Amino acid sequence: MLTKEATQQIEANNEIFEYLRGYLDEVCSSIAEKYGLYDSHGCPRKAFVLDTLLKYSCYGCINKVFTQPRKTDSIDKLFLQNHKLAVNLLVEQLRHHLKSAGFKVEEEVKGEYGRLDIIIKPTGTGVIVEIGNTIEIIIEVKTGASFTYAQLFRYLIERPNAVLVLWRVTQRQIIVIDGGKIRGLLLMVMEAALNRGTAILNGYYEECSHNPVRNEPYVIEDAQGLVDDFLSALAETIPSVVETVLDIIRSHLGDIETSQQTMEVENLDH
Ligand SMILES: [Zn+2]
Repeated sequence: MLTKEATQQIEANNEIFEYLRGYLDEVCSSIAEKYGLYDSHGCPRKAFVLDTLLKYSCYGCINKVFTQPRKTDSIDKLFLQNHKLAVNLLVEQLRHHLKSAGFKVEEEVKGEYGRLDIIIKPTGTGVIVEIGNTIEIIIEVKTGASFTYAQLFRYLIERPNAVLVLWRVTQRQIIVIDGGKIRGLLLMVMEAALNRGTAILNGYYEECSHNPVRNEPYVIEDAQGLVDDFLSALAETIPSVVETVLDIIRSHLGDIETSQQTMEVENLDH
């Protein structure tokens, strides 16, 4: 049970968090406008801007990335299909196992739904599992060796109450980061991004000698080995990902039950 002071501290932190989040969003919009960074629908590429602000500590590099955006069409189809397959199978496995565990699984948001209903949404980078408006689990699927904290922190800034599950398929690794538990660190991360963003907007950067933008496509040397390894890693690790998600949901529902019981006991006391 939290003390009154601890509860107040959490509320104050939440207020600062929301303030910084709003401010950061404005800065990202202004940067997108300044550099003409829009997607094919004409929307500002705020996710790309925030990723870049989180990723580079050198202002000169940030300016280079914004002025020479990398072409994304150089990704080999093999990687794209590996990623699609992993997401596709994970969605189905989650659906099956969550239903077996007694949860009501909805395909999509269809108006009203009860608290324990679960929604499974495939996204461009992985899968989001929403548990009746109380908790979100973001499963980020990485099929290669690449990994940045910048991207993970961005997800947690966008969805601060989420628990993030990083699934590195070929590395056979599953890493869990609970957004609520690293609130203090996320505040620091947001402050750093804000400082960089405002400096860039005000033109406070100097040319640097680094080379952050690389346009050479990645060449696959051993496609057979890559596919063999990927498919076996996928089959080996998918049950652990599902189990990790189920554990997070169970522990979250356990927390809700405990806090409800505590409230009932408190009400009896009065
Ligand atoms: Zn630099």
